[in-house]
Amino acid sequence: MAHQPLQPGLYIVATPIGNLGDITMRAAETLARCDGVACEDTRVTGKLMKHLGLSKPLWRYDDHAGEKDRARLVASMHEKAVALVSDAGTPLVSDPGYRLVRDARAAGVPVTTLPGACAAIAGLTLSGLPNDRFLFAGFLPNKDKARRAALESVAGAQATAIFYETAPRLTKSLAAIGEVLPGREVAVAREVTKLHEECRTGSAEDLAEHYAAHPPKGEIVLMIAPAGDEPPGDHDVDALLRAALETAKASQAAAQVSKATGQDRKALYARALELRR
Ligand code: SAM
Repeated sequence: MAHQPLQPGLYIVATPIGNLGDITMRAAETLARCDGVACEDTRVTGKLMKHLGLSKPLWRYDDHAGEKDRARLVASMHEKAVALVSDAGTPLVSDPGYRLVRDARAAGVPVTTLPGACAAIAGLTLSGLPNDRFLFAGFLPNKDKARRAALESVAGAQATAIFYETAPRLTKSLAAIGEVLPGREVAVAREVTKLHEECRTGSAEDLAEHYAAHPPKGEIVLMIAPAGDEPPGDHDVDALLRAALETAKASQAAAQVSKATGQDRKALYARALELRR
C-alpha cells in the first residue's frame, strides 16, 4: 500500500531497546511515510527497516558531523520529512541529535517527537527504587577519579540516580559506589526487554561480589537509591545508641534511636543494654 508522504520537517523517532515488538504504531507509520532516515549506524537501522518491510534512504548522522553536513541536512528538512533515529531507544538520550534539533528549531523547521522506549525509564520502572524524583546522569566515566567525582555529585540528591553502564565496567563501578556511597541500595537492570532481562537489587558491595562471580553480558542501567533511604547498618545503630546513652537511660536511648531509624525498639533496647555493659 502506498503511504501518504509526511509534511516536511524533523521527526524524532524512538525505536525499541531490544524487543522489536516495542516499536510504536506511530513510529512505524512515520518511518513508512518519511522521505529518509538520519541514523547513527545504517546497518543497525537497516535491520529495523527490513523488519518493518521498509526501504528508505538512510543517512548516517551523529553530532560530530561537520557544521556544513548538518546545515545541509537541516536545509533539506524544508522540503523533506526526515526521521531521526538512534541505534536503540530515544534519540538524544546519551545519543546523537541534540545539535540537529537545536539547529532545526533555529532554522524554523517543524520538529515533532515520537516518544517510545528509553532504557533509563524502563530500568527505573523495574528497579523498585523510588521513582517520584530521578536524576539521569548518562554514562559513568571510565577513569577512577572522574567516576568518583560523578558519584559524589549525586551523593546528596533526593532522587534515584540513573546511569548507563557497560558490562565490562559494571563490577568496578559497583565497587566505587560501595566506597563513595556505602549502604545505598543499588539496582542493576540488564538486557531490559530482551530474552535474558534481569533486575537485581542490593548493596553495591553484594552486587559487586555477585557480578565478579558471574561476569555480566549485555546492556545495563545502574541505579542508586536517594540519600537517606539506606537502612542504617549495625555500626550506625551502635553509634546512635552510644551517643544517646551518654544522656539517657537504655530504654529512652532505644526509643530515640527507634524513632530516628524505624528499627524495632525492643531489639534496640537489648542492644543498648549490651553496649552499656
Ligand atoms: N538512547 C538510548 C535510550 O533511550 O535508551 C540509550 C543509548 S546509550 C548509547 C546505550 C546505553 O543504554 C547502553 O550502554 C545501556 O547502558 C543502556 N541500554 C540500552 N538498551 C538497554 C537494554 N535493553 N537494557 C539495559 N540497558 C540498556
